[in-house]
Formats: sequence, structure tokens, C-alpha cells
Amino acid sequence: MNIFGWMKTELADALREEGIPRFRADQIIRWMYQRGAVSFDVMDNLPKLLRAQLAERFSIERPQVGARLTSADGATIKLLYAFADGQTAETVLMRHPYGNSVCVSTQAGCRMGCAFCASTLHGLARNLTVGEIAAQVIGMADYLRQEGARVDTIVVMGSGEPMENYDNVIGALRLLHAEETIGLSYRGMTLSTSGIVPGILRLAEEGLPISLSISLHAPTEELRSSLMPVNRMYPMAEVLRAAQTYAARTKRRVTYEYILIRDVNDGVREAEQLARLLRGQLASVNLIPINPVAERHLFRPPRETVLRFQRILEAHHVTATVRREMGTDIQAACGQLRSRLMEAGL
Ligand code: SAH
Repeated sequence: MNIFGWMKTELADALREEGIPRFRADQIIRWMYQRGAVSFDVMDNLPKLLRAQLAERFSIERPQVGARLTSADGATIKLLYAFADGQTAETVLMRHPYGNSVCVSTQAGCRMGCAFCASTLHGLARNLTVGEIAAQVIGMADYLRQEGARVDTIVVMGSGEPMENYDNVIGALRLLHAEETIGLSYRGMTLSTSGIVPGILRLAEEGLPISLSISLHAPTEELRSSLMPVNRMYPMAEVLRAAQTYAARTKRRVTYEYILIRDVNDGVREAEQLARLLRGQLASVNLIPINPVAERHLFRPPRETVLRFQRILEAHHVTATVRREMGTDIQAACGQLRSRLMEAGL
């Protein structure tokens, strides 16, 4: 039984069945999540006999790092994790001036079918477990600890649709928040969704002050449906309403992500439509010049078009930022590395 990803209470219950006292759970948990232990052997505050007993019954195996890429400027590191069954998912570390942020994946592959996204090219393989999601962050935390640094924030914006794997995603966030792991604050967590309305409403009731980000990418139902098939199931109007419910319930500003794609959604007209849609909301827009995905024939607009789009939003009093680019030289965008390696048969 692999206990990596278990909470302290779960482990304590399992240990009790083996006749092992509760306080051992706390020691084991700290070894696993704070000290990078990958075997019971190294847990030198546990009696030798107990370590052997544990090793017989449990494992604390973590996903293997299958590939590691570092951007030329060193600010971005991308890992491709390989799980026990051979499935893979990507994790990215971004060193910002304000702290270290980890972008985690929630599924191996994705079934949302967005036109611009590499993660969905090969469909969905499966949901990641709590342990597999948490391990992405714990692994980066272990790495940063060597240089005296830590994970400050996480963005659930890697491959996969988190709302389709709701329980495991929330389980992982709760685990990463716990004091005996890495004690991440909920305010430092952002979850991004393609707009699964029931998931957004459920998250609003969860009582966790995490930030919500909505992948909008178009200002009309028609255009959005052509880029994101999910819009046919949950139309934009309902997504916006659910997001407002989230903002009202949590008092947290919702961010709308808007990928700018040349001649598709980057015009003056779309900027004005978007401004009308969001005016007066507790919201802001994050403009993302598309990371071109060769397979999709979608291209990035010139810089002036990006700035014009931003100016129009601001003129209508809608806050808009342009996402700082990191890691384009290491295919850091959603699913790009995994997809490339799968095509190469690796
Ligand atoms: N499924 C969730 C989270 C994963 S996608 C969601 O849709 O929000 C995370 C973000 O990366 C989304 O805003 C997504 O639209 C964006 N993204 C995907 N492909 C991209 C690309 N080629 N260039 C720029 N951003 C991309």
C-alpha cells in the first residue's frame, strides 16, 4: 500500500490497525513531506524493527522524474513525472520576483478538446491521485529546500481539467495546506477551470479561500464554442454567473484568462465585447499571447495587438494584465512536452 499522499489522520488509523502508536504517524508524515524521505530506512527516529515492519506493509514511493528541462535563464524548470503505471504528467516551477510558484497537473492528458491546447491532443488517460498531484509540489519543495528556498504559491493550471477530478484535487490542496506537510496558505493557491459550472459552485461552498481562474478565451458564445467544446455543455453566460457567485461567496476577485490568438479573438471588436461582459465585476483579465502549438495552426498576434487589446479593456475600467512569458524555450505550455515525447514514442 502506497501511503504517499495520505493525511496524518488516515495514516494514524492505518497504523493503529497494526498496533503502532499514533505519534508515529506524525513522524512518518514529516519525513515524507518535509524531509524528502523515499524509504522508511532513513527515518532514524523510528526503531529499526518498526522501520522493517512498516516497509513490509507500506511503501512511500513517489513518481519518477522522467525528464527535466531548465530554461536558458534558469527561471523555469519543467519536470515530466512518470507514474507507476507508465502514465506521465508535467509540472513547472516558475521563479518570480515575488516567490516560487509551481504549476501542477491534475490529469494525465485531458478530454476537454480545447482547440489551442496541447494537453488534449491525445485525449484523457486518467485522473491523477491525491498522492500524484501532491508529489509534484512536494518534489519541487524538496528541490528548492537545497537552496534554502520554498514553494510560495501553486497554480492548478497544468494539464487536465481540475473540476473533472474534484475530490483528488481538493484532497491534494488540503494536504499541501497542512502544517505537517508544507503548510501552503490557501490564498497562495489558484485553481483554473475551463468552466465546469457545477464544479465552480461546489468550490464556492467548500469554504477554502483559494483563487479561481476561468479560462474564457472568447467574448461570445459562438466563438467560445468553436475554441472550447465545453461551452456547448456549460455556456459562457452560466460560467460567468457561477464565477460571480464564487466571487460573492469568497470575496475573492476572479481572474479570467484570455489567450490571444492572431485573427481569431484579438480584434478591437472582441476587446469591446469582453469589456462589456466584465464591466463592474469583481474580476480581472489575464491576457496570454498564445504559445503556438504547431499541430493547431494557431499563431501569436504582434505585440501592438496585445497592447491594443489591453488598452481597450482598461479604457472600460476592466483591469487587464499581460502574462509574463516564461519557459517558452522548454515547451512549458500545457502538455507540450508530454505530447512531444508521446509522439516520439518515449
Ligand atoms: N483545464 C483547466 C486548467 C488547465 S489549462 C483550464 O482550462 O483552465 C491552464 C491554462 O492554460 C488555461 O487558461 C488554458 O487555456 C491555457 N493554455 C492552454 N494551451 C495554451 C497555449 N497553447 N497557449 C497559452 N495558454 C494555453
